[in-house]
Amino acid sequence: MKKALQVYCATLIILLFSFPIAAIADDRVNFIDMEHDIYRAPWQSYQKLIALQSAAQSYDELTYLWWLLRKAQAENLIYFYDDFNRTVEQANALVTGKTPLAIQAHLSLFQGLIHSRQGNYSLSQSALAKGLIQAKEAKLSGLYIFTKQELAYTKTLTEIFDASLEDIQEAYVEAFALKDQFLIASINETYGAIYGYLNDYKKSIEYYQRALEAYQNLEYPAHIAEALYGLASTYRYWKKYDLAIEYFDKYQQQIDYTPNANISFFAAYGIGMTLAERGDCLDAIAVIDKALALKGAIDYNAELYKRKASCLIALELLEEAESALFNAANIFANIPELIGTSWQLEVIKISSELAYARGQYGIGYGMLEQYYQKYTALLLKNSSQRLLKVRASMEIERKRIAQNLAEKRSQVEMLELEKRENSRILQIYFNIFIICVVLIVLIVITVQYRTNKKMHLISINDPLSGLFNRRYIFDYLQTAVLGSHPDKMTLSVILIDIDDFKKINDNYGHPMGDDVIRQIAEVGRDIFRQDDIFGRIGGEEFLCILPRTNISEATKIAQRFLALTNDSKMVAGHQETITVSIGIAALSEQCQDVKQLYINADQALYQAKNLGKNQVNVF
Ligand code: GH3
Ligand code: MG
Ligand code: MG
Repeated sequence: MKKALQVYCATLIILLFSFPIAAIADDRVNFIDMEHDIYRAPWQSYQKLIALQSAAQSYDELTYLWWLLRKAQAENLIYFYDDFNRTVEQANALVTGKTPLAIQAHLSLFQGLIHSRQGNYSLSQSALAKGLIQAKEAKLSGLYIFTKQELAYTKTLTEIFDASLEDIQEAYVEAFALKDQFLIASINETYGAIYGYLNDYKKSIEYYQRALEAYQNLEYPAHIAEALYGLASTYRYWKKYDLAIEYFDKYQQQIDYTPNANISFFAAYGIGMTLAERGDCLDAIAVIDKALALKGAIDYNAELYKRKASCLIALELLEEAESALFNAANIFANIPELIGTSWQLEVIKISSELAYARGQYGIGYGMLEQYYQKYTALLLKNSSQRLLKVRASMEIERKRIAQNLAEKRSQVEMLELEKRENSRILQIYFNIFIICVVLIVLIVITVQYRTNKKMHLISINDPLSGLFNRRYIFDYLQTAVLGSHPDKMTLSVILIDIDDFKKINDNYGHPMGDDVIRQIAEVGRDIFRQDDIFGRIGGEEFLCILPRTNISEATKIAQRFLALTNDSKMVAGHQETITVSIGIAALSEQCQDVKQLYINADQALYQAKNLGKNQVNVF
């Protein structure tokens, strides 16, 4: 019974709590899972990766490829651009048709970044487009969305605003559905950039702030820096120069997470440009020269040269202005994608200013005219009704989709809640069912146990006296005598027979006789000990087995029995004294079996009767 309960409890416990089995950890570093660590601590992760180089190389090529990928990622974030380019090149060299798409997709994204940084925007776009297809095929939705927003940003750089808005829009919807804070932040950052380029500064700041907040929550230092830089740049375009310088300073402080000194280029670039635009030309030129001395980005250098040229014209340093302009024009000439953009057109405008400063009014006028024509055409192209409409509809669409998604999500959440509630109820029903089954089994077992016990009692009891019956007494005696118990030699029996019982029946009737039998049984219960086995073996005959009791002890007990019987008025309502005769025998060398023992006791009893009854006789 106890066991059944234990088994049930164990089963129930297993049913109610299913413990997750702890995965056995592989001691080799899993480079695939390192992405978040790299975002969090790019420089430390980079050092860790470098320390693991030989280990990574000693594993299979796939592990090594992942190592290269993660290293490239870290290098990108700490602005180790040359190393980044080399690592991507190394990884690309190892790519075969069998290389997993996840790796190929990452590499395409990196390749896109490299091209974009070198000003090869169309190459960048095709690498990113390839990455998009690979990420989609590999079912890497996060990477897919990230690549898409990068593609949108690259399109912005070549002023294909409507296409980039479309891309970023799609990326946003997908990131929103994934609930991925990082992706949403990246997209908001790109929105910030696009709106900045579209001269919608308020919106640009709003998006950059959102991105900044998310990056701060995620504690991604490189991304925080990027968002700060975006904010500073937008303030600069907005002509809020003080705010711009404040944010460029914040950016400068934020980038101390990387040991790359060249990265100060971007802070110097921003501050130099802002100072120049504010009209602080002397300060501006000093900062711009500092920036140009650092290793920066090529198209940024073009901007610096233009701004420096303008400042030099203002300071009437025309020769130096010309050389600065020449440097700017040279850079643009090598980046075909930038030809025709407002950045390149500005070279013409500054050239015209230089011509004016030199007094070459005709040339200056012609250049200015050319500049305005091209610039107006560009403005018309970009600010066309179509673009405005695209922008407006994109915003509305974005809100609508966001709302739709939110509704769908809440529906799904409700369904999930309902499902969870249902399975909880099912679980409760199941438990109740199990408890009921266990209770029923318990009841059945208890009833069965009681019935068996009752049956057993019935089978060993004498119903009249409540003592053991003849069968039980003799079975017990048999077992005790046959058993290998060391005490078996010390065992006595007391055989009791009521004297002249027939007379009692005759005089007072059978029921009174039965009462007398019951009262004699009572006497036995008083006199005999716990271990003694007392029973009725025939009409008015009783037998008591006394284990570990020698014959003299048995005699004393028998005499007490006799005395107590004499003391009692046995026949209710009459002055009749009942007496008994007792025969005693014990196991001995000569008597070792039950039959003999009983015969001996019976003989002793017979003697007692013969000697006048109401006495004890020992065999
Ligand atoms: P003795 O002193 O020699 O033992 O004489 P006795 O009368 O006791 O012995 P005897 O064997 O002649 O009589 C026993 C009687 O006990 C006979 C029988 O009617 C009666 N008897 C047997 N079983 C029961 C019973 O269960 N209830 C009653 N009331 N009488 C019983
Ligand atoms: Mg008798
Ligand atoms: Mg008798």
